[in-house]
Amino acid sequence: MIVATLAIAGWIVHLAFGETAGWAAFSGGVVLLLLHHIQHAQRLARWLKSPVPGKVPVGSGAWDYIFSLLYRFERLESRQQQQLAKTLVRFRQAARAHPDGVVILNADNRIEWCNDTAEAHFDLNAETDAGQPVVNLMRQPEFVAYVESGVYDHPLELHSFRVGGAIFSIQIIAYGDDQKLLLSRDITRLDKLETMRRDFVANVSHELRTPLTVLSGFLETLKELQLDPQRSRDYINLMSEQGKRMERIVDDLLTLSTLESSPSPPLDERVPVMPLLERLRVDALALSGGKHRIVVDAEPGFDLLGAETEIASAFGNLVTNAVRYTPDGGEVRIRWRATAHEAEFAVIDSGIGIASEHIARLTERFYRVDRSRSRATGGTGLGLAIVKHVLNRHQAALDIRSELDKGSCFAARFSARRVVAAIAAAATTVADGRMGSPHAVARPGASQDLGSRS
Ligand code: ADP
Repeated sequence: MIVATLAIAGWIVHLAFGETAGWAAFSGGVVLLLLHHIQHAQRLARWLKSPVPGKVPVGSGAWDYIFSLLYRFERLESRQQQQLAKTLVRFRQAARAHPDGVVILNADNRIEWCNDTAEAHFDLNAETDAGQPVVNLMRQPEFVAYVESGVYDHPLELHSFRVGGAIFSIQIIAYGDDQKLLLSRDITRLDKLETMRRDFVANVSHELRTPLTVLSGFLETLKELQLDPQRSRDYINLMSEQGKRMERIVDDLLTLSTLESSPSPPLDERVPVMPLLERLRVDALALSGGKHRIVVDAEPGFDLLGAETEIASAFGNLVTNAVRYTPDGGEVRIRWRATAHEAEFAVIDSGIGIASEHIARLTERFYRVDRSRSRATGGTGLGLAIVKHVLNRHQAALDIRSELDKGSCFAARFSARRVVAAIAAAATTVADGRMGSPHAVARPGASQDLGSRS
């Protein structure tokens, strides 16, 4: 089109000024056109060599159209790149916030990237360790073997040597171009729970098997032998004792399970403390059979907020233990101190005491310092576990102090949110007792809901 225009212009010049002038005009026009194209092509080449986003050259003529297309293409491309960059940032932020450790490995098992959790799990540094072979930084033989095996069907359980005693589940997932995602999860708590569950099942089986073995032994004897009536009666009494022991264990287990599955105790239910202390005193007297001095040392004025049956059961267990582990003639003191800011229920005895190495474990299920003594006094090894559970549910703490052969103090401490002014302050009750029948109430205060150990 432009060439045709130049040809017409050249023809007109030819008609006006002669043939030479015509050709000169036409040639000049063609040269100018060529220069125009060369200049634009150079601009394009320069931009393509180092494209600056948003700085596409502008041109004229046909080049204006080409450059506008290029500009549009470049805008689209840069928008897509921005989108991609944003997605990448979001992905990294998500991977960083992930509670599990994430390490990206390349085809040579070198670290490309890792998140904060992986840094903490394996003591890695995302910046300085990038490009390092992962097996150089985590050298445990089982880990190295797992990474190099190429078989990642199952996770690897790894006991960390870096973080004290932690256990990790490691899973490698292969993806893309021979890349790998190494995921790590801290399963220390799960592992502990699983061990506790196994121990618990073993303990319950053991605790129930002993009385069961005794029971079936006696039953066999009664079946096989002709015993005189007195002997038979003795055997039946012994069997009944074993039956009761099993019942107590099952009751305590049910109490624990009820506690575990119940909603948190209410904050608006008043537990009148003074009447509760009086009940505890009467039950302790009955259990003691008059062989101990039982003292209630209480300052009235404040009550507790919570579940009365649970609190009565926990306090009752502490009082019962004090009587059971205090030799005849000893003292059991039930103490209550409360202000608007805190409250403390304590049971202080002058009993056998507990060696310091046992104290931290006393609230574990079935933990006993002296198994045979606990059994002889009707214990199941679950009393303090119940106490701890009840106190936890009331945001209270159990403090145990004890000295061997001198006595113990078990104190339950409640915070201000569980303390409320008593409606009518009862008088302090201080009483001594030498009365009641032995084993009348093995676990005073335990409600019907939570089961009583009698
Ligand atoms: P048990 O039914 O065996 O008494 P607990 O859970 O109530 O189980 O108590 C756990 C162990 O703590 C007991 O076996 C006993 O060894 C010890 N213990 C608890 N209370 C006292 C106490 N007042 N004096 C001495 N030892 C105690």
